[in-house]
Amino acid sequence: MSNTNRVYRLAKRPEGTPDHDTFELSEEEIPEPGPGEVLIKTLYLSVDPYMRDRMRDSESYEEPWDVGDPLKGAVVGEVVESNGARFDEGDVVTGELEWAEYATAPGPVLTEVNPDLAPISTALGVLGMPGLTAYFGTREVAQPSAGDTFVVTGAAGAVGSVAGQLAKLQGARVVGFAGSDEKVSFLEDDLGFDVGINYKTTDDYQAALDEAAPDGVDAYFDNVGGPITDAVFTRLNTDARVAVCGQISLYNSEDVPMGPRKLTQVIQSRATVEGLLVSDFEPRFEEGTKQLGQWVASGDISYRETVTEGIENAPDAFLGLFEGENIGKQLVQVAER
Ligand code: NDP
Repeated sequence: MSNTNRVYRLAKRPEGTPDHDTFELSEEEIPEPGPGEVLIKTLYLSVDPYMRDRMRDSESYEEPWDVGDPLKGAVVGEVVESNGARFDEGDVVTGELEWAEYATAPGPVLTEVNPDLAPISTALGVLGMPGLTAYFGTREVAQPSAGDTFVVTGAAGAVGSVAGQLAKLQGARVVGFAGSDEKVSFLEDDLGFDVGINYKTTDDYQAALDEAAPDGVDAYFDNVGGPITDAVFTRLNTDARVAVCGQISLYNSEDVPMGPRKLTQVIQSRATVEGLLVSDFEPRFEEGTKQLGQWVASGDISYRETVTEGIENAPDAFLGLFEGENIGKQLVQVAER
């Protein structure tokens, strides 16, 4: 094991879209685990759209990072040293750790990953936070039932791809918006969506919806916001449910643009529009993970991962989220097990 630990730190706060100058890769010493801590070798790290918000100097549901702070996110890693923590060398764990090759953490903030149940990377995707977001957002907030039409944006991503499949399992007609023909084929051919719409080659979202969702929209899972959401709101049916999960089309905007005002549609439809924060469902994560694990094992839910190799390429993986470069969950593989 070399003595050097490469760690990504926030070099400066981005204005608008982040770029490589946002990140600094520093070479540091491998930390020593304190009492009750373990030293973890990072195997996979997750890059997620919400991290953009932590780069901003403003209040949010996550603490902002200071310039110079290590970036943090969900990691799957291997315990290489245990200093009285409840884990042994060789155990695979997941937790919120630094974007680094090695990190220390107290035992209680880590969760064991069973490598015999599913590939360990799934603890960051379909069986991790994104899968749980889809699970609770679809079943508890958007609540599609048999015969409903369910629309999801960011449909080919980590959350959207699972949400659409869960709605399908509930018996809904599922329509997904995604940003390429390859993604549309993935939705229709691999995941069983009824219709995929490539929003980058579609000028008129309302007309596309009229074709894909001729009976209107009963449940909407929004990952994206912006003009697609404006269009979906005009097609909401009576008592429709909207789960507002993400607004990635706005994350790099310094000022949130004033969109067309569609709240009259909410009055007409008596729709319920509800913000969703996956952490609110933490007491039920075990239930969600178990259920998702069963569906993955039975083949009822498929998943895809886009894996970027090497910690040095983590910024590219993160920036790619805003360009739609990923299909399914975007991961960075930092080391082999
Ligand atoms: P994804 O895997 O879906 O990756 C992001 C995707 O967003 C890209 O692949 C891209 O796909 C799409 N995208 C990027 N920019 C735009 C744009 N301007 N307009 C439309 N689509 C765009 O990420 P996640 O599945 O991890 O997250 C999806 C959403 O869910 C995010 O908004 C995220 O913040 C939110 N989220 C919310 C949680 C909560 O608790 N509320 C928890 C987890 C995630 P394409 O090619 O289709 O453009």
